[in-house]
Amino acid sequence: MIRHHPDNNMLLEYAAGSLPWALSLAVSAHLQLCPQCRQQRENLDRIGGALLCDSAPQSVDTAAFDQLMGRIEHEDQQEASSGEAAPAKPRPVYSSDPVLADLPKVIRKLVTSTGPLKWRRVSSALRTSRLNTGQDRYEVAFQRICRGGKVAEHDHRGREVTVVLYGSFSDSEGVYRRGDFLLREPGDVHRPIATQDQECLCLSVVEAPVKVTGLLGWLINPFLSFRPA
Ligand SMILES: [Zn+2]
Repeated sequence: MIRHHPDNNMLLEYAAGSLPWALSLAVSAHLQLCPQCRQQRENLDRIGGALLCDSAPQSVDTAAFDQLMGRIEHEDQQEASSGEAAPAKPRPVYSSDPVLADLPKVIRKLVTSTGPLKWRRVSSALRTSRLNTGQDRYEVAFQRICRGGKVAEHDHRGREVTVVLYGSFSDSEGVYRRGDFLLREPGDVHRPIATQDQECLCLSVVEAPVKVTGLLGWLINPFLSFRPA
């Protein structure tokens, strides 16, 4: 059962189309797994529609998200309107991997459009794969923790949203299962540990750290890289 949800402010921004698109991606993934928030979103949609009339034009980020969602809905309509069985599609490269077999549609679409995943080993417990979203304000990535794996204790320099997509993990505050949506603020320190029975896969969306430019930046930026979740 899902116990952690985006708050009403974030759902309202999502409904109004004013949430940055990387965060919209995380909210959308959660919505696809959470009937409770889908209902809440419908309630807020009416308010969001009214707000949209008064708000500034959509940012490029939001437009990109709308394009992605539009493609998904368009394909859904095509599938629904086709009377015959759809032609066999090429097998996605990750289909043999049970951890990636049942991703929320919006995430599956993003993975399919960005090509094969490249996993980077962060530690014996953690592998990460960055998802190319074409924007640099947020880093969007999969974090994959092995069974019983312990991730090094870390804090957050920017806001970080985590959505559990497979398996579960725990920290000192509780246990988080598929669909759970967690928002960490700068200064939050935690140490995730995957449960023993299966691997854990999370989507993480991390606010980019301040980037130092120029020659100094070239020297320093490698040390400002994102920390693993
Ligand atoms: Zn929810």
